[in-house]
Amino acid sequence: MKPGSGRAPGRPKAARGRPGKVRQWRVQASDRLDGCHDVIAPDGSVFGTYPTLNKAASICGTKQSEELRRARMVNRPCLCCGTPFDSEGAHNRMCNLCRKRGSDPVEPQRPYITRSP
Ligand SMILES: [Zn+2]
Repeated sequence: MKPGSGRAPGRPKAARGRPGKVRQWRVQASDRLDGCHDVIAPDGSVFGTYPTLNKAASICGTKQSEELRRARMVNRPCLCCGTPFDSEGAHNRMCNLCRKRGSDPVEPQRPYITRSP
């Protein structure tokens, strides 16, 4: 990280990827269905009930990764068009539209001369 991070006033402090701020998903034995496991969302609601601990843990892991990614998101202006977008981190400086436009061929490429068989 670069020192001196006071260059963008008004940026929300929460979205800087601090692990302590990420909301936690968890798995617990279901009290409604015997032998099943509940995946509990950070707000305490039951996201889903699964027959095996393995399945529940897998869903929980996926949800936790999404949560981490969301926690790292910062709203920053696109380097190309200047439109503010939800950036996934320091590596992500172009909005989806500009990124897509950059990877699309602008015009048909002149074909390379190939050796005839
Ligand atoms: Zn853009």
